[in-house]
Amino acid sequence: MKIIPVPAFEDNYIWLICDGRYAAVVDPGDAEPVLGHLSRHGLRLAAILITHHHGDHTGGIEALLRHAAVPVYGPRKENIPGITNPVGTGDTVRLPELGVEFAVLDVPGHTAGHIAYYGANSLFCGDTLFTCGCGKLFEGTPAQMHASLQKFAALPDDTQVYCAHEYTLENIRFAKKVEPANRQLLEREVRDLQTRERSRPTLPSTLALEKATNPFLRCEHPAVIEAASHFSGSPLDDAVKVFTAVREWRNRF
Ligand SMILES: [Zn+2]
Repeated sequence: MKIIPVPAFEDNYIWLICDGRYAAVVDPGDAEPVLGHLSRHGLRLAAILITHHHGDHTGGIEALLRHAAVPVYGPRKENIPGITNPVGTGDTVRLPELGVEFAVLDVPGHTAGHIAYYGANSLFCGDTLFTCGCGKLFEGTPAQMHASLQKFAALPDDTQVYCAHEYTLENIRFAKKVEPANRQLLEREVRDLQTRERSRPTLPSTLALEKATNPFLRCEHPAVIEAASHFSGSPLDDAVKVFTAVREWRNRF
């Protein structure tokens, strides 16, 4: 099984999970690049997986369904046209054509009903976790988003992280404000700068790398607590308060 990024719009990645004959697609904001890839590689569409209702993740559903009437999995708590299989925490998405299955996680914060898919050592996290960052809180509270990110942090360190945008360098620029002396973060910047100079995706990442460099997964780390306390002008004594301050800092960055 291979997982391939199909770039779309300015900086979206539509992920294709394929095995040489079939493909499932995650968050097809646009059908055209997906259909192009399927036809170039002789792949048959098996399923569509959606993480949340934003148009840059759902805009291609209708056109893909005209091409092939496949199951469309998506968040039970959001109203998205075209969803045939609404799912949430506790559900499993089985894709027999690809021999893979995914556990569904409710991860509210970016949107109220946002879900993620975890399976085959891979996490499709939509706009919840980004490489070295996290999604904006359009519909959820900081406490909800922090709890959602903690669900990811509990997954194995070697989990491959497939986010829906190429935001890494911009996020690293901010992360360095929070933790200017984080050696792994500085090493990551060198690597990812080189990757982007070659116009290659910096994704997937791993949870181990995110836990070492992503300030939003490091709210209990002394350096992050200190920086967040400094930003908010008072000592912060719990992880949710630290997360809230770092998210606010990022919004103003
Ligand atoms: Zn979004």
